[in-house]
Amino acid sequence: MLTLEAVGKTFGSHVVLDGIDLRLAPGEVVAIIGPSGSGKSTLLRCINQLEPPTSGRVTLGGTVIEAGHTPGRRELMNLRRAVGMVFQSFNLFPHLTVLRNVSIAQERVMKRSRAEADKISMQLLARVGLADKAQQYPSRCSGGQQQRIAIARALALEPQIMLFDEPTSALDPELGLEVLAVMRELAENGMTMIVVTHEMHFAEEVSDRVIIMADGKIVEQGVSRDVMRNPQTERARRFLHAVK
Ligand code: ADP
Ligand code: MG
Repeated sequence: MLTLEAVGKTFGSHVVLDGIDLRLAPGEVVAIIGPSGSGKSTLLRCINQLEPPTSGRVTLGGTVIEAGHTPGRRELMNLRRAVGMVFQSFNLFPHLTVLRNVSIAQERVMKRSRAEADKISMQLLARVGLADKAQQYPSRCSGGQQQRIAIARALALEPQIMLFDEPTSALDPELGLEVLAVMRELAENGMTMIVVTHEMHFAEEVSDRVIIMADGKIVEQGVSRDVMRNPQTERARRFLHAVK
């Protein structure tokens, strides 16, 4: 479904991603962990070309984007539509109701009518446990609720893959748990996901595979439980020892 081949990213002379190879099968859930500054966010941003890679190739569905070749508008649009992103900050529109926050991009991007978009939004809000908040404004919602709204908004565009960049880092632990529960439900229902996270329990229990990054490289990857409990590399051991 998603393939990264030798993806590299430099900012000036600073090598931030160094030859990343990654292959995701449909329905696979991959957790990426690693120290701050190791390139995790940049990797996600390179997948949907928010940050164009300096080298390598990204293939998603039928779309291939090669570094150095400016992608056509159509390729870029296909790729972006196929990728749903959820960030640490929820970035909801404060002047729109919860329902309209989930609906508005559907009208623009998917050309759905307002009625149709609102109907789909209601179903998605129910799925993330927030049907009763539809007519509220985001400011009346907790951080955990706002993040679940952001997830519903991303799902509304029917992405092939969901990328999460530390979705619970800004939340109190208890509110983080309700977001993780929604993510677990998505994973169990077959969504293909890459999750950058500090939640070691989520990485071990929910994801199929864990990738540990350091200094712009994948230093270790494998079946979640094996990597988390019995890392093979010194760098991975050092990181896990520090965070566990
Ligand atoms: P992580 O998400 O693992 O903490 P990031 O991908 O955010 O790491 O950053 C990796 C490195 O790339 C850091 O050293 C960061 O300073 C650098 N970096 C990220 N974005 C930019 C940018 N737009 N310009 C320059 N350096 C950047
Ligand atoms: Mg980051």
